[in-house]
Amino acid sequence: MRPIRKQSSPVPGDFDEYSDAKPELISRLGMYCSYCERPVSTNLAVEHIEPKKGPQGQPHLTNRWENFLLACVNCNSTKGDKKVDLQNLLLPDRDNTSAAFVYRKDGNIDIHNALNQQQARFAANTLKLVGLDKPRSVVLDANDEEVALDRASQRMQAYLLAERAKENLTACNREPMREKIVDTAVKTGYFSIWMAVFDEEIDMKLRFIEAFSGTKKSECFNQANANLVLPAPNPDALSNGSKV
Ligand SMILES: [Zn+2]
Repeated sequence: MRPIRKQSSPVPGDFDEYSDAKPELISRLGMYCSYCERPVSTNLAVEHIEPKKGPQGQPHLTNRWENFLLACVNCNSTKGDKKVDLQNLLLPDRDNTSAAFVYRKDGNIDIHNALNQQQARFAANTLKLVGLDKPRSVVLDANDEEVALDRASQRMQAYLLAERAKENLTACNREPMREKIVDTAVKTGYFSIWMAVFDEEIDMKLRFIEAFSGTKKSECFNQANANLVLPAPNPDALSNGSKV
């Protein structure tokens, strides 16, 4: 999960309407779901980290910048009005979520084995909250070609695309190819998958960190070698941050 920094609120106090925050969130974080990392060109929603309604709702946080992320319809609807306990899960705006998960070629997301027991529990809670622990459902079209309907299938597709891009770089290791791959990554989304596939390529990782809005500003990556900075510096001091 791509670590991101929203920075401080663009308005003094709360927003009049939470939807007013959307342009600034997109400008700072890019047009991606903050949880599953898919690119969302329309219907990207202002996501309330703590639910605004329901029995666990926090209505006083409805229009508060610190409570916002961006989410796709799948993550948003899976999360719904479930209780969110900031102490017991990892969030991309305050934890180094890049250290928490391993992205597999089959579209599955595993919890990184470098986490301690407590951190691993927090990571599992995050996956469950937005349904990123759901396995890929194989759907075939009339020609028996797999159709990437769910998030896991889309991750698998992104992984294959990133692997092809890496082969292209090996075949043609030139500056224009590097730039082209970064453009493709930004368009395709799934920052974490590009980082996983290009794990050996420090220069490419630094380019991805730079190109996906809000990632470099998170300070979760060393700016010289792209190594993880742990725990997350959490420069805006968001509550319960830096758990990883
Ligand atoms: Zn999503």
